[in-house]
Amino acid sequence: MKDDIITELPDGQLYVGGVWETGTGAPITSIFPADGSINCVLKGASREDGERAIARAKTAQADPAWRALKPHERARYLYRIADGIEANIDRISRIQTRDTGKTLTETRALATSSAGTFRYFGAVLETSDEDLPTQRGTAMTLSVWDPIGLVAAITPWNSPIASDAQKVAPALAAGNAVLLKPASWSPLVSLELARIVEESGLPKGLFSVLPGAGREIGNLLVEHPDIGRVSFTGGTSTGRNLAVQAAQKLMPVSLELGGKSPTIVFEDADQDLALSGILFGVFSSTGQSCIAGARLFVQRSIYYSFLARLVAATKALKVGHPHDPTTQVSCLVHPDHRASVEEFVDDAVAAGATVLAGGKRPDDPALADGAFYLPTILGNVKNTDKICREEVFGPVLVVMPFDTEEEVIALSNDNEYALACGLWSKDFPRTMRLGRAITTGTVWVNTYKQFSASAPFGGEKDSGMAREKGRSGLRAYMVQKSVYVDLTGQPHPWAAATVAATNSES
Ligand code: NAD
Repeated sequence: MKDDIITELPDGQLYVGGVWETGTGAPITSIFPADGSINCVLKGASREDGERAIARAKTAQADPAWRALKPHERARYLYRIADGIEANIDRISRIQTRDTGKTLTETRALATSSAGTFRYFGAVLETSDEDLPTQRGTAMTLSVWDPIGLVAAITPWNSPIASDAQKVAPALAAGNAVLLKPASWSPLVSLELARIVEESGLPKGLFSVLPGAGREIGNLLVEHPDIGRVSFTGGTSTGRNLAVQAAQKLMPVSLELGGKSPTIVFEDADQDLALSGILFGVFSSTGQSCIAGARLFVQRSIYYSFLARLVAATKALKVGHPHDPTTQVSCLVHPDHRASVEEFVDDAVAAGATVLAGGKRPDDPALADGAFYLPTILGNVKNTDKICREEVFGPVLVVMPFDTEEEVIALSNDNEYALACGLWSKDFPRTMRLGRAITTGTVWVNTYKQFSASAPFGGEKDSGMAREKGRSGLRAYMVQKSVYVDLTGQPHPWAAATVAATNSES
């Protein structure tokens, strides 16, 4: 089952400050991980390509054609980009499926939500007021928001069009120029976004898409003095290094990093609801999701009965080709990534974990060439084990029993990550108590992995800092300025007499 979308793509050029150019950096090979075939090889962006994009962005951002636009005028470009994405949903989803191995159902949903993100930030822009702080002196006081100037968006490979939109939409809405660096495993859909942005008529130079090596183009974007903010989504160690670099030039960064999110099932939970939510929460996207509910705690009184149902349901999930509409679990993004997932599971088993489901590649010969791995459940683990602490970023769930509310709060919080959490209980006050007691950026109650452009998203501890989305998401890409306007029309008393005396002498 193959899709010829790749033959319809432009010739592997990068979008360098509004100009389609062949990169001069190291080559990037995009593969279709469902069968290992090569989609295309393109030349990535070098530092020189990045310098050119930055220079063009600087000129375009300072141009009154962009700089002087009123918010509602700028918003029109965001609506046009949203329209362009919606008109191309089929194409975008096919490209992203080829590039990442995600199911078409999922890439379609990601494209749709990305259009929604651009539309939402257009609306936020049009309806955001500036402030008139209460006057305390003789001057009227205004609090206004200006664009930062040049913003870099650095994104990972797991949901490229959605994470691109999450950064590009508010950053453009805020009046900046944006330089987007997608991950090398998934450059194609971001380049498709560039085509759509170009068709929206956005002044050239304001948007660049620069796939390339993190060490080269990524570093340049962080270090360059003209870049005023970096919005990063990716692994925790990359994010930490980037924050250290950014500190050298006192540049704010937003970091959306990894996770090892707990999901908690109490004995009074609606078990059908919990089962479906847990399966979706950890195995959709083949577990390649920062918010994957990868640590499951089940109250001891229902532990074995619930686990039996969970294991049976996991084994019944349809593992298959991303183009098959019945597939629930597709391949991983790359054979190298599957090797890392396999190593995690093998190490855990060697350390004493029991494989309750999966734990290997599928036997189906039709999937033998792809980077497939079965949805896996590991029992007989402790919360302190490596497999319970570190992010696998694959279809691997660890399960543990608990007795009391206090105990499960402590277990949940005993982890370096703090991104999301799922609670399954019919006891509403209890869900509220836990929701507040668990350190995390997002809490889902009797559901999981729900997202809205209007709700701020982000992590605590090693899962990152700052928030994206929501109305405040626009302000993250702006700088606040206070303006005092004299209302007296009188010289300042401190120097009034001096000025008057000087005037009478002259
Ligand atoms: P990664 O950290 O390897 O790469 C992320 C991006 O950073 C890529 O574009 C990469 O090229 C770039 N990069 C690498 N080195 C760089 C450097 N020195 N300077 C600047 N940029 C550099 O992450 P990944 O493997 O692409 O993505 C998986 C990770 O992303 C997981 O840890 C996952 O949890 C995380 N993630 C987090 C969220 C969230 O919102 N919290 C969402 C999705 C993914």
